[in-house]
Amino acid sequence: MASTASPRPRVLIIGSGFGGLFAAQALKRADVDVTVVARTSHHLFQPLLYQVATGILSPGEIAPPTREVLSRQRNAEVLLGEVIEIDLAAREVHTDTLGLRRRHRYDHLIVAAGTNQSWFGHDEFADYAPGMKSIDDALELRGRIFGAYELAELAAAEGRSAEELSRLMTFVVIGAGPTGVEMAGQLAELARRTLRRDFRHIDPENARVILLDAAPTVLGTFHESLRGKAERSLEQLGIQVRLGAMVVGVDAYGLDVEDTDGNRGRIEAFTKVWAAGVAASPLAKVLADQVGLQVDKQGRIPVERDLTLPGHPEVHVIGDMMALDNLPGVAQVAIQGGRHAAAEIRRALRGERTGQPFHYKDKGNMATISRFRAIAEVGRIKVTGFTAWVMWLVVHLLYIIGFKSQVTTLLRWAVSFIGRGRAERTITQQQVLARLALQETPDVHRWLATGPTEHPEDSRPPRRRE
Ligand SMILES: Cc1cc2nc3c(=O)[nH]c(=O)nc-3n(C[C@H](O)[C@H](O)[C@H](O)COP(=O)(O)OP(=O)(O)OC[C@H]3O[C@@H](n4cnc5c(N)ncnc54)[C@H](O)[C@@H]3O)c2cc1C
Repeated sequence: MASTASPRPRVLIIGSGFGGLFAAQALKRADVDVTVVARTSHHLFQPLLYQVATGILSPGEIAPPTREVLSRQRNAEVLLGEVIEIDLAAREVHTDTLGLRRRHRYDHLIVAAGTNQSWFGHDEFADYAPGMKSIDDALELRGRIFGAYELAELAAAEGRSAEELSRLMTFVVIGAGPTGVEMAGQLAELARRTLRRDFRHIDPENARVILLDAAPTVLGTFHESLRGKAERSLEQLGIQVRLGAMVVGVDAYGLDVEDTDGNRGRIEAFTKVWAAGVAASPLAKVLADQVGLQVDKQGRIPVERDLTLPGHPEVHVIGDMMALDNLPGVAQVAIQGGRHAAAEIRRALRGERTGQPFHYKDKGNMATISRFRAIAEVGRIKVTGFTAWVMWLVVHLLYIIGFKSQVTTLLRWAVSFIGRGRAERTITQQQVLARLALQETPDVHRWLATGPTEHPEDSRPPRRRE
């Protein structure tokens, strides 16, 4: 069923990430009806997912409900739904919300569906080395990380073998970009500071943290001098950095690695974190096929200089899923792209000339290594250590959505960085098991989609796998 026709132009925005949300907000005063449709009901501040995974922040601090963020914006509505089709000729978007199909008409479309994790063609690695793209991922990793220490404590109490203990206390992060470096740094801090006094049979300080990458350097997008400093800082934290190491196999007990000479080795490790790659949303290909374009190696769609699709001035594609001038997949590209698309729509509404090129303003690049240690580059200025860390803190705090979250995040950072505590160490079986259990129980989706009333004979949800 198509949505009811509106007298005002309808702007449909796919995605409530950095691109989608900032585009919607930039249309606040425009004479349009804005609909934001996304497959999660929250906006997600992905740069801090690793802090949810390692028990510093709660999901709510980095993932506010999108409808709350936009609640005061009278011309905007928020819908939950997975976009499964975009029909450029009919100007319609098809969505699926837990089995319920809908069609939505648009006059202007902004596509900001971002990226998904990529295991470089080895999706089978995902079961044992989850990625870090969603709250589900972060909570699952949290369960695995803290759960590994629990299992190690039990193994030590029962006098199990040194090999088993070592496997449980080895944490491998695959991918030495900013996310991998931040994750490895926090895993080291957990072992050396947070958990230091909490166990009776193991010494968490004996935990091994290994950071692997097939590339010859950590933080490849940063200036050489900063990369060297970052690598030394990681080693000072006791992290083993192994570069030129390609992961060729992952299983429940560890991973197989191949070096640049083709020699294979094995690392026994219970906990693996995949921070290595992303691929653009499949919606990029859905669009590319309709306009006769090819997506690039990362699945991104090439766009015109004004961020529109060739031959479709009413469709903007922004953020991580578009390819233009080799712009990086970072939050600022998406935010500025969202604002540019909104400005173009406002110009079109006023009958002004559209098609103005997008100019990206690079505001710099930063990554934390551990508490009080970071690297940052802003233009030619390069900063390291405590100053860079303060810059990181201020910038991240500014971009966290909502005053409440900014205050609670600051408090939790004080607890974790000045003290040694972590406020969010709760783990549940559900975090670790629920996703797998749901995937293996297709009936859950039918039940959620239709509810008990249409199936009076089974008014309870299917049982979760024990
Ligand atoms: C772990 C991690 C750390 C990062 N750290 C940094 C950092 O420190 N600094 C930095 O600048 N950048 C960082 N990034 C990159 C940054 O988060 C992205 O560049 C940015 O989020 C891109 O914004 P976007 O709007 O294009 O996509 P996203 O923010 O990913 O938003 C995509 C939206 O689309 C929705 N969606 C996707 N598919 C569909 C569909 N089929 N139907 C409906 N909705 C859909 C999603 O639910 C989401 O709401 C990091 C990314 C990750 C994963």
